[in-house]
Amino acid sequence: MNDPSTGALPQAIDQFTIQMESAIRANDWNSMFLDAGRIAHYMADATQPYHTMLFYDPQTKTGVGVHQLFESAAASYLSEFRLVSPADVGLIEPISNVTAFVLETAIQSHSFLLYINRTLIDEGLEWSPELTKIVENRTNTAIIATARIWQTAIVRSNSLPPELPKVNELSIAIDGVVLDSTSYGVIRLHVVDSLRVKTRADVSLSVDGSTFRGQVANIVPPVGEYIIIVPSGTYNANFVFTAQKEGYQPAVVTLPIGTPTTTTIAMANVQFPTTLALAVMVAALVALIWYRRRPSYSLIDALTDS
Ligand SMILES: [Zn+2]
Repeated sequence: MNDPSTGALPQAIDQFTIQMESAIRANDWNSMFLDAGRIAHYMADATQPYHTMLFYDPQTKTGVGVHQLFESAAASYLSEFRLVSPADVGLIEPISNVTAFVLETAIQSHSFLLYINRTLIDEGLEWSPELTKIVENRTNTAIIATARIWQTAIVRSNSLPPELPKVNELSIAIDGVVLDSTSYGVIRLHVVDSLRVKTRADVSLSVDGSTFRGQVANIVPPVGEYIIIVPSGTYNANFVFTAQKEGYQPAVVTLPIGTPTTTTIAMANVQFPTTLALAVMVAALVALIWYRRRPSYSLIDALTDS
């Protein structure tokens, strides 16, 4: 797949369409959005002429890469585009063979290369109104093609749309606690909306009068995943997590800490991955054996002597 000559993009979109279809059937809206996003990205890629050739970045006579030049034009000339509206498109038709459809779109994109290369390379022009028209054409093609593939997944799933909640509420799920030596704990959590779709929010943890803010766990999607770093120590109150977002009912989750009313972050009543729990237990066992076998002139003895 790393070999650019394999050209597996049409098959990849076909695969994402199948995944999107089963996500809809399973009411797994979080996965559905991920696959819909992948389809949109890949489909738009297939409408860029320079993505349809092995020699994907020829240069102008002054040494400017044409690939980037052409791609950035979509942003620079966006205000001049006439983008398609639902009225222009009418009924969104599903596609019977997604792989073949994407391949046809890529072949169509490829057919623009001759003209673009002639203008930018042979004639050495910086840009032309015809090129703006081509980028507008490719952008609209990407929009309609994406809508048609989404529609394909929806129609094939043969499912009803989800019941939208009147009030959209956030909820917090604690994914685990990871301990880094004894200096701090990392609490991983994610926030979902009423349809269980991961969503961005302001996340914080309050305990013993201190507030720790959640940080975005991933710089790439999926969104809505956070980490909260808590210094190790003894906490005398429950861990209270809050997630807030405009237009949503906030979520508050309380993690009761162990009895009596004192706990350390290491012992917080939070489920953490079994492998990690095992590792901590093994490490404790090794430490215990080591402690029992160490000679009598240890550091502790030396300290008590002084
Ligand atoms: Zn590109």
